[in-house]
Amino acid sequence: MTRFIFVVGGVISGVGKGITTASIGKIIKDYGFNTTLIKIDPYLNYDAGTLRPTEHGEVWVTEDGGEIDQDLGTYERFTNEDIPKQNNITSGQVYKTVIDKERAGEYLGKTVQFIPHIPDEIIRRIKLASAGYEVAIIEIGGTVGDYENAPFLFAAKALEQEFGADMVAYVLITYLPVPYHITEMKTKPTQQALRLLRQEGIIPNFVVCRTAHPLDDERKSKIELYAHIDRNYIIAAPDVKSIYEVPLNFIRDDFGKKILDYFGLTPRRDLEWSSWQQQVETLLHPKVSISIGIVGKYVDSGAYELFDSYVSIEHALLHAAALQGYGCKITWLDAKKFEANAQAVEECAHFDGILVPGGFGSQGVEGKINAIEYVRTAKIPYLGICYGMQLAIVEYARNVLGLSGAHTTEVDALTPYPVIDLLPMQQKYIHEHNLGGTMRLGGYSAYIKPHTKVSALYEGRQQVVERHRHRYEVNPEYVEQLEQSGLIFSGYHQRTDGTRLMEYIELANHPFFVGTQAHPEFKSRFGFANPIFAGFVQAGLERHCYLKSSLQSEWLPIDSCGKISLS
Ligand code: GLN
Repeated sequence: MTRFIFVVGGVISGVGKGITTASIGKIIKDYGFNTTLIKIDPYLNYDAGTLRPTEHGEVWVTEDGGEIDQDLGTYERFTNEDIPKQNNITSGQVYKTVIDKERAGEYLGKTVQFIPHIPDEIIRRIKLASAGYEVAIIEIGGTVGDYENAPFLFAAKALEQEFGADMVAYVLITYLPVPYHITEMKTKPTQQALRLLRQEGIIPNFVVCRTAHPLDDERKSKIELYAHIDRNYIIAAPDVKSIYEVPLNFIRDDFGKKILDYFGLTPRRDLEWSSWQQQVETLLHPKVSISIGIVGKYVDSGAYELFDSYVSIEHALLHAAALQGYGCKITWLDAKKFEANAQAVEECAHFDGILVPGGFGSQGVEGKINAIEYVRTAKIPYLGICYGMQLAIVEYARNVLGLSGAHTTEVDALTPYPVIDLLPMQQKYIHEHNLGGTMRLGGYSAYIKPHTKVSALYEGRQQVVERHRHRYEVNPEYVEQLEQSGLIFSGYHQRTDGTRLMEYIELANHPFFVGTQAHPEFKSRFGFANPIFAGFVQAGLERHCYLKSSLQSEWLPIDSCGKISLS
């Protein structure tokens, strides 16, 4: 039988429900329970695929090709589990199914109503995603009291009625503000969130309190009184520097054990978190940090949005660095400034590595191409992800092959040299304006060419699977020409019709110049770095040591660089 834990938010959004859910999942899993995590998004979009990253953060891609809210990424990064797309439930999916069923006559002439048909469909989806698991943790997006939230809370109560109250636990995450003119931590918004939740018939079993400062006894007593729960079940979640500290704080509070206790379960094994702890320590107090510049286009939407748009890349870099025992400082570089002033790209020389992430459209593209040319010729480690690989090919075609005006048809439909182009299927989707869920999405395998850098990164594996999210491909007509001029295609995907889609590129005689059509950042987890990122970060460290040693006019071998404090 599955135990259900519903995680809901009170007061305001953005208080870390996703991180709390992921942390609980990681702890319960580590206690030896078969655990899954489910995210409910009350918006009407069918999925996150058509959402602008600046609107809703990065679009996360699951192994089975779902385009999902970034919380699923947090779940995977914490729990090291592949979470399938059925674990994301949106109001859009729920309503669409109900209306489709009505159109198909499946309700046999009954009046189709908000209650019970919408919660019934929600419950069907929750059961589907949790089937076979001992514990399912379900995060309900938004905030208690939102109009959109109500059917999901109703569904939670219905599940409780079906399986019994002892099979369902509720965790409320609230925020305790300290208004600057009062300088006192206020519990009133939490009291109101508790009241709103009670209107839905729910009294939470646990209250997680997000605070800027530690939670004192007086506040705890107040919440205890208003929530009608023992203070033992009020969990403090003070602000932390790294999200990976959150589960460590929960363990200190015995949060996981208390949840198991509530369900009448006992841990099946002891927790072993020393390696996690050590990596967190490295992230917080690195002796050596490499610096990576990410050339993106969202900079002028404000630093917060940019940060969120590439959240998986940021984490993949941090995972790789922490695992190898050092830190990684990321600087966001606006591609547009490299467009306006070609000299500006020299700024790239200040970094230990430059990364061009995935992207769409023409904004900032020439700036990215200028940066790629610079790092290729200046031999600065380069990682091109998806668009970053496609633009590296455009740059190579223009500047090495001399194909002036070479481009991707995404930006220039009339280019004389369409080195990146649409294959017929994608042309059809675009023609039909059918944009939702029609990209090449999810895990695809690639054959890796032996004796290449990419092959070495994947430890000689002949076939690897990474996740994808793109429409355009390397134009097969240019592959031979590019190869003859020195570009190495180090991996390809073979379609059932025999077509080969280029998946990896690299350059010889360069410390690290690798591009991939995939998004390896989606398969990086804390404690399990993705091999492509690990290689890039390692190359960054080598450059870092080289630059440091040339400053000190003595050569420091990598090992000592990694261990001694240089700054
Ligand atoms: N815009 C490119 C494409 O659709 C790259 C996509 C990406 O970087 N995710 O193929």
